[in-house]
Amino acid sequence: MPSVYWYNGEFIAKEDVRISPDDRGYYFGDGLYEVFRVYAGRIYEAEAHFERLVRTADGLRIALPYTIEAIQQLLEELIGRNGLQEGTVYLQFTRGAAPRSHPFPQGAAPVTMAYCTELPRPLAAMERGIAAVTVPDIRWLRCDFKTLNLLPNTLAKQQALDAGGDDAILHRSGTVTECSASNIMIVRGGTILTHPADNLILHGVTRGVVLRLAREAAIPVEERPFTVDELLGADEAFITGTTVEVTPVVRVDGHAIAAGDAGPVTRRLQEAFAATIR
Ligand code: PLP
Repeated sequence: MPSVYWYNGEFIAKEDVRISPDDRGYYFGDGLYEVFRVYAGRIYEAEAHFERLVRTADGLRIALPYTIEAIQQLLEELIGRNGLQEGTVYLQFTRGAAPRSHPFPQGAAPVTMAYCTELPRPLAAMERGIAAVTVPDIRWLRCDFKTLNLLPNTLAKQQALDAGGDDAILHRSGTVTECSASNIMIVRGGTILTHPADNLILHGVTRGVVLRLAREAAIPVEERPFTVDELLGADEAFITGTTVEVTPVVRVDGHAIAAGDAGPVTRRLQEAFAATIR
């Protein structure tokens, strides 16, 4: 696949991208991003991703340098130029480049970057499920903004890998919030439970799709916090996200969830999700 980047409004080769050492993304993680899924060459759930992008930009007080319509067109052109069929588009804006100083710089324009990555659907993990490790959620109180500040997420992911797991389930004093790069849902007595979409979790686009599919299938849903103990005693658990889709969680901290394989509600939602792609 060619590697054409969209950088500050131009389509250029990756090698020609020049990041300033004064970029505030580099100093402060002062920026935002989105990861879009591409199926059959088309952006999946574009509108929901753009809504979140705008909400985050407003929250961080970064004025996007293009309209959403223009960004969408440019991303579609980027997908075409790269010949991407199945994969992701990563899009990032930083506040701009200026000598290091905390106040917002005067007159610095946001720095924009986007690129494509080929990525097949995670069919093997979706079939067999993943093992997760619980890790304290040490993030700030605006986890609903999709910012570049991902150090707690990367630390949690590495802690899970070091412990022999596949991913980290984050909790605040025993209340499960989400995972290092996905949302989590459990099933207890036929009802799906998931943390409410407040300031403590990212409002996942896939989370929204899956909740809509559950309601369409008349599966009861409660958006309420649940505990690590409720997770360990759940009938089913699964994570949702742009790259993981609907992936079962079959072990947590070495304990099997129910029978230790994907349950019927998870399988139903996987099928319903797959139908939204076709
Ligand atoms: N939660 C976190 C912390 C994430 O980083 C992500 C995705 O990157 C998600 C949840 C899932 O969001 P989405 O379904 O929009 O990919």
